[in-house]
This record gives sequence, structure tokens and C-alpha cells, in this order.
Amino acid sequence: MRGPAAVAVAGAGPTGLALALMLARQGRRVVVYERFDTPRPIGAGFMLQPTGLHVLDRLGLTDRVTTLGQPLDHIVGRETARRRIVLDVRYADLNAPRPQGVNALGIHRAAIFQVLYDACLAEGVAFETGCEIAAAADGRLAMTTGLSGPRFDLVVDATGARSPIARDLLVRQGSPRRDLDWGALWATVPWPGAPFDDHALEQVYRGASRMIGILLCGARPDDPARLATFFWSLKHADHPAWRAAGLDRWKAEVRALWPEAAPVLDSFTDPDQLTLARYGHHTLPFPVGDRLAVVGDAAHSTSPQLGQGVNMGLLDAWALAGALEGQDELDAALTAYARIRRWHVRLYQALSMGFTPFYQADGTVLPWVRDHVLGKLARLPFAARILAATVSGVLMDPRA
Ligand SMILES: Cc1cc2nc3c(=O)[nH]c(=O)nc-3n(C[C@H](O)[C@H](O)[C@H](O)COP(=O)(O)OP(=O)(O)OC[C@H]3O[C@@H](n4cnc5c(N)ncnc54)[C@H](O)[C@@H]3O)c2cc1C
Repeated sequence: MRGPAAVAVAGAGPTGLALALMLARQGRRVVVYERFDTPRPIGAGFMLQPTGLHVLDRLGLTDRVTTLGQPLDHIVGRETARRRIVLDVRYADLNAPRPQGVNALGIHRAAIFQVLYDACLAEGVAFETGCEIAAAADGRLAMTTGLSGPRFDLVVDATGARSPIARDLLVRQGSPRRDLDWGALWATVPWPGAPFDDHALEQVYRGASRMIGILLCGARPDDPARLATFFWSLKHADHPAWRAAGLDRWKAEVRALWPEAAPVLDSFTDPDQLTLARYGHHTLPFPVGDRLAVVGDAAHSTSPQLGQGVNMGLLDAWALAGALEGQDELDAALTAYARIRRWHVRLYQALSMGFTPFYQADGTVLPWVRDHVLGKLARLPFAARILAATVSGVLMDPRA
């Protein structure tokens, strides 16, 4: 084993857990610090793209994730006025290697969490829970209680989009986080079945002010019932008005936009069943410091329009673990990690920022371009391949 013998990972999300597992398998002593008393997942089901699946495959986890998740072959978006298809991404347009024939996977957060958590426990990763981290310095994590943890050879920040450690670095590196106006209400619902396509993420749009999505995301680890994640795009500022208007009015609007979604709406009896996700955008220009590396959403967060966040975090973990194994000097390894991830992260952060106003915005011009120009262009064979490559996460692929 080369590099640090003892590593603290702050945050037991998918990025922190995947990294902890990789580092433990390299023979390092790894302790994961998590704010919750029991590590647990929060959030919607999501899409594992070919990049993320590849990292999980290298970890030998393909069997478990594919058993729990739902294989997906395409993403389809329709505009509501004439119900034309204006987004049609087919993974088959890209001849990428596919572990067990799976292109992409819809998966519930509880499932990916359990698979990674079990693997970490099996490798002897230690968990310190109920530890809310406030800062990191000189190989130590400082808790919000004022207590400081033991000294490690390396501390890794994987505490997600609102990381206090990254927030300080972002300010120092002159690239502060920006809260986006738009977010989404999401909920886990029973899979509604036909006419929904169980190999697709399906979305409908009215301009860019209304977007609804239904993603089949497999099952929770302890219950075989098939589930879907339902999304309703919403500005944060409009959330109080949405609540005040009541569920019935909102359901009527959803039914008018997407009649087939009516069975899903029966699941909702209380507005609290729909959780508001707030999106923000930041990119840490240099995600490393003294005995410190920053990974996942802590290093780069954005709107989930391109469905890359977890996959980017898994790539970060893969890059950092590889860099630590490949260099004797810690500083050289951290610099190598930052270099490996630099252009891929920047490209996808820029693409996410560029695509988002086509799907979530007040204006009418960009959604018109989406429906009348981009939708048609995307059917050309070359463009279809670029689109599939973009969504697959393989443009400027750091694994190449
Ligand atoms: C509605 C929605 C849909 C999405 N869809 C997709 C998709 O389809 N595909 C995709 O790839 N991505 C998607 N994403 C993005 C994805 O959820 C994130 O990119 C991903 O969860 C980031 O993983 P992470 O491990 O870096 O951070 P997180 O998942 O945020 O995990 C951070 C962990 O750190 C812990 N923590 C936080 N603060 C502290 C602290 N101070 N001290 C100690 N512990 C702390 C948290 O409890 C958590 O366990 C979506 C996001 C949203 C909101």
C-alpha cells in the first residue's frame, strides 16, 4: 500500500461510502463520520449512468445493484401541447461497454446505500455517527460541538452540496455557491405500470415552467415492491403558494398535463409526502488542500438535469483512490486526483448549467428552441450519439 495509512471520510452518502470501500480494500484504516445517529439515505431515486455503473462494477457490486435496480434503455420527454417527443435519448446509440448488458439503472437511494454500506462493513470500515462536521484542518475533523476528532493522514470531505468545509474553500478560491431559483418536489410512489415504459425515464414539459417526471427505480432492499420516483419542477419561492392552493388543484393541473399520471396522484393525500429539493450550483476549482480532498457534491454540485451527480461522485472516488495508490507522496496524489477530474467535472458542470434553462425557467424562447429545433436535430444519427454520450457521462471520460 502506498500513501496515507489512516483516512477519515466525512459523509456517508454514495460518494463517501464508495470511497471508504475502495480505500479499505487498499489496506487503509478508514473511519466514516456521519451526522445522522444511524447512517441512512435521504432523497429521491436516481439514475446510475454507464460511468457510475462501471465504478460499481469494478467494486464487484454489479450483481447486487442490478438485482435491486431497474435497467433503463432510454429517456423520453414530450411537450404537452401536441404530445410530440422532443427528447429521446437512447443509450444503444452509444456503443459503450455494458456490465451485464445494463445501459443505465434506475435505483432507489436506500438500495445503493445498503449495497455500499454492507460492503464497507464487510471490509472493516468504522463508522462514527452523530458527528456533525463543521471544519477540517491539519488532518482533523472539527465537530459542531466544538470537539475535534483524532488526527488522520488524510481527511476527505464527502458531506454533499452544503458542505461546511467546501463552503470555506469555495470562498477562498473565489467561486462561491449559487442557489438556483428552481428545484423540484419529489416523492417515492408505487410503480404505476402500463402505459409507462418500464425501461425509460419519462418526462413531460409545458414550456420550461412545468416539468413532470416518472422514473422506475427498482425496489428497497427489504421489500420487493417496485417503486417509482415522481418529480414536479417548482421554484422554491412558489412552494408556499403551492401548499396554500391545496393538493386537489395541483392534481387537476397534473392530470391536465399528463392524464396517464392520474394513478400516481392517488398516492398523495398530504403535501408533506412531496419533498422540496433545492438546487444549487458550485464547482470547487481545486478540490484539495493540506491533508484534505473534497469529493462528490461537496466539490461540485448542480441541478440534476443531466442525472450525473452520483455518477460524478463515484468517478471522484475512483480517481482519488487510484491517485493515492499510484503515488508515494500525498501532495502529488492529491494534485493527480484534481488533475484527473478537472476537465470532466468542468465540462459537466457547464453542460448542466447550459441545459437547465431549457427545462426549468420562466422564459419561452429556450423551450421553444428545445421543442422545435433541438428535438429535431437530436434525431440525426451523429447528434443522437452525442446526446447518448452526454447523458452517459462519457464526454471527456476520465477513465479513458
Ligand atoms: C431531486 C434530485 C434528483 C437527482 N437525480 C439524480 C440522478 O438521476 N442521477 C444522479 O447521478 N444524481 C442525481 N441527483 C444528484 C445526487 O443526489 C447527488 O449528486 C448525490 O447524492 C451526491 O452524493 P454525495 O455522496 O456526494 O452527497 P450526499 O448524497 O449529499 O451525501 C452526503 C452525506 O454527508 C452527510 N453529511 C452532510 N453534512 C454533514 C456534516 N456537516 N457532518 C457530517 N455528515 C454530513 C449526509 O447526511 C449524507 O450522508 C439528484 C438530486 C436531486 C436533489
